[in-house]
Amino acid sequence: MVGMLVEVGPKVKGLAPKDLVVPMVRRGCGLCHDCKQGFSDLCTTGLYLERGIKGLHGFQSQFVVDEAAYFIKVPRELSHLAVLTEPTTVVEKAIDTAFRLQKARLPAWDAQPLALVAGLGPVGLLASMILRLRGIHVVGFDIVDPTSHRPQLLKAMGGEYVQSLSAFKEQHGSCDLIVEAVGVAKVEEALLEHLSANGIYALTGVPRDETFPIDGGAFFRQLVMKNQDLFGSVNANHSHFEQAVKDLHSAQMKWPGVVEKMITRRIPYLQYAQAFTGKWKDDIKVVIDWNS
Ligand SMILES: [Zn+2]
Repeated sequence: MVGMLVEVGPKVKGLAPKDLVVPMVRRGCGLCHDCKQGFSDLCTTGLYLERGIKGLHGFQSQFVVDEAAYFIKVPRELSHLAVLTEPTTVVEKAIDTAFRLQKARLPAWDAQPLALVAGLGPVGLLASMILRLRGIHVVGFDIVDPTSHRPQLLKAMGGEYVQSLSAFKEQHGSCDLIVEAVGVAKVEEALLEHLSANGIYALTGVPRDETFPIDGGAFFRQLVMKNQDLFGSVNANHSHFEQAVKDLHSAQMKWPGVVEKMITRRIPYLQYAQAFTGKWKDDIKVVIDWNS
């Protein structure tokens, strides 16, 4: 969500009426070490709450009340695309984690890896945006037609598109970093074959139950023999929200008019049902507009 502050409490600092803000979603459990340190994204008890997702009402209303600590200020010139902040934070955290791990264990890692981003929904496209802003060569993988909206947005940010993993293998061999945003277990498993030695693989999709045969020995042997890291990542902390706002701003400057094309439809709130039942070809991100 993105919204404008209409009122702040007398003790609130750094925020004022008419500021544009994006709210964080997760509220820590208040019990575990990580939540107490301000890292509710790493909550270990699982007793956290999330507005609109777990145990708390979401932000689909005309007015929202919350604590100041959960609001991130956004520059006014980002008003048309700041709603993309929260999905951007998901991959800010995953990419930040991948870079920290690689730099910690591979001092010579040149930070200019070949990255494979799997799944070009909003999260995959925003991951591509973050990586391209850091000058990294991005190959995006999806199954949609190369002339369709998603591959075209990827290309507008300087990324390359492949429609199959065999095409990726043929053209690039392997990659140093995988950012997965597909959420299909079989695809997630198939991606591992394309990771180079010393590579790192970040999973962000949430797959449904799916049973299929897998050579477990080969799977774990590859991780060991190739010194590969495989990790999952969910949610994000305050610093990732701040980085997301910075990156959306940078992307707007670098590729004017491109990032907002990820928002393919704005639905007036009175027609909200269309956002869930409408089927439009090539939609990426559908937004409900409470100003309309
Ligand atoms: Zn916790």
